[in-house]
Amino acid sequence: MKTLRICHLYPKLLNIYGDGGNIITIKKRAEWRGINVQFDELNSGEILATEHDFYFIGGGQDTQQIEVSCELQKNKDFLTQERDRGAVFLGICGGYQLLGHYYQPHNGEKLLGISLLDAYTLAGNNRFIGNVTELTEFTEPKSLVGFENHSGLTYLQGETKPLGKIVVGYGNNGKDLTEGARYKNVFGTYLHGSFLPKNPHFADYLLELALDNKLEPLDDTIEMNTHKSLVTKAY
Ligand code: GLN
Repeated sequence: MKTLRICHLYPKLLNIYGDGGNIITIKKRAEWRGINVQFDELNSGEILATEHDFYFIGGGQDTQQIEVSCELQKNKDFLTQERDRGAVFLGICGGYQLLGHYYQPHNGEKLLGISLLDAYTLAGNNRFIGNVTELTEFTEPKSLVGFENHSGLTYLQGETKPLGKIVVGYGNNGKDLTEGARYKNVFGTYLHGSFLPKNPHFADYLLELALDNKLEPLDDTIEMNTHKSLVTKAY
């Protein structure tokens, strides 16, 4: 089995509401299967030049997004090549917004994203806060659970499809009942929590895409009991 090469994008800037737990989950679920993991970080001022299998970018407030928006532009071409090579990306909330074309806050300049997703985000007038349950077509069970806290309204276009359909919560914009996004192996979601520990079936789905290999199942009894206890839980 090949080594899983992980790159955490701007962990010092975008890493709120425990989003770093997603990295821990991906690393552990690989290591528990005896898969070697190479872990790198990309921080401000650095330029990416080596391929990775799994890229992660967490959430953050508008202020941190301003700096990351500028930094990401320096790596846009390389990350676009990585997307087109089939690398897996997972972006959470503010990080998700910057995987699209732009995030337009209430005040100030439009924050440019890197257009890995055909999506854009406009500042909303309300904060969407609370538990989320959605149904995705990518896994069995179809349920995904987490917690959202954002004012941005995200709209999907072209070949970029939703990650799931909302059952409980607001999702991308509180109107079209979509949540998150997928194009090729680039995934975005508003689900904090952390997202992957509460959805181990989706964590394995991303791992299998990143390794391009089917994996032996783990004993997820405890994790899935926790997951099931949260499905359709509004508060
Ligand atoms: N600042 C963005 C918004 O409020 C993202 C917030 C976040 O990452 N939780 O929509």
